[in-house]
Amino acid sequence: MSVKKICLLTNDVETTSIWFNCLRDETGLKVLQEGMPLLLDIYSKYNIKSTFYFTGYIAKLYPQIVKIILKRGHEVASHGLSHKKEHGFDQMSYKQQVHHLRESKMILEDISGKEVIGFRAPALRVNEDTGKALIESGYLIDSSIASQRFDWFMSFGGRKKLKWLSSPRLPYRTSSESLFKKGNSPIIEVPLSATLLPYLGTTMRIFPLLTRLQHRLLNLENSINHKPIVFDIHPNELIDESNETRSISRRSDQLFAYLFQDLIRAQLKVKNLGHKALDLYDREIKYFMQKNYQFITVREYVENTFNGSQGNRSV
Ligand SMILES: [Zn+2]
Repeated sequence: MSVKKICLLTNDVETTSIWFNCLRDETGLKVLQEGMPLLLDIYSKYNIKSTFYFTGYIAKLYPQIVKIILKRGHEVASHGLSHKKEHGFDQMSYKQQVHHLRESKMILEDISGKEVIGFRAPALRVNEDTGKALIESGYLIDSSIASQRFDWFMSFGGRKKLKWLSSPRLPYRTSSESLFKKGNSPIIEVPLSATLLPYLGTTMRIFPLLTRLQHRLLNLENSINHKPIVFDIHPNELIDESNETRSISRRSDQLFAYLFQDLIRAQLKVKNLGHKALDLYDREIKYFMQKNYQFITVREYVENTFNGSQGNRSV
């Protein structure tokens, strides 16, 4: 298979309610019953294979959410055990990280009957220990680094994410010391696409016109260096909870962080949710489809690209 024009559509599945700005089991149920079917239909319509990163929490709560992707040939991967702020991988000790990685792998493998080797950290928060913890827990692929993406203070763990600016742009074998650098570890990093601004569902919904410019830039880059397009969407963006009244819950303890990470962010993040998000997503997919990209899973991409290279255990 040619690996020159590849589009990796990735999905983070969790109980986060964008409308309520918190984690909610009821939202998880809506994700299962409304968000996931819409996503799966759009992938079937275009005959697309993609990768789903599930939190262990939602998988345990609604195992069906994992099972429904299997028949369609999508990949099951881990989005950690919990999406709670205090369980960010940059917050947890090495031991806790290993526990969360092992536990979520076990839950997903039990439900799916398939080996899980891919990981994406909740809120993309990782630290110096995460690479080692991934190796220790038997993972082979990470997709938590968004090279050359600048989040400023609009996301949690913003300071550590400055390392993204200097991370390699093309997928790479990571160093055993750091996921942000190249090296000889068994872990392959598949960075999320970014053009300083993130290329993902949230930006697509908030700035649809800018996203149009972004996908053109990413296509241009691909024609030069064959970098795969890595898009990130959440099935919770395809549900609409706006019929329920809300008050924005406060997750940050400092005023500045509260203002930007809770208040403003919460207002922006609810733009174009539900069916509008689906239409915008359809437009992104069509763009790359018309440019003859192949849509495969992250695992397939890594197997096609990195097989035979160094490492103790290849994918
Ligand atoms: Zn997430």
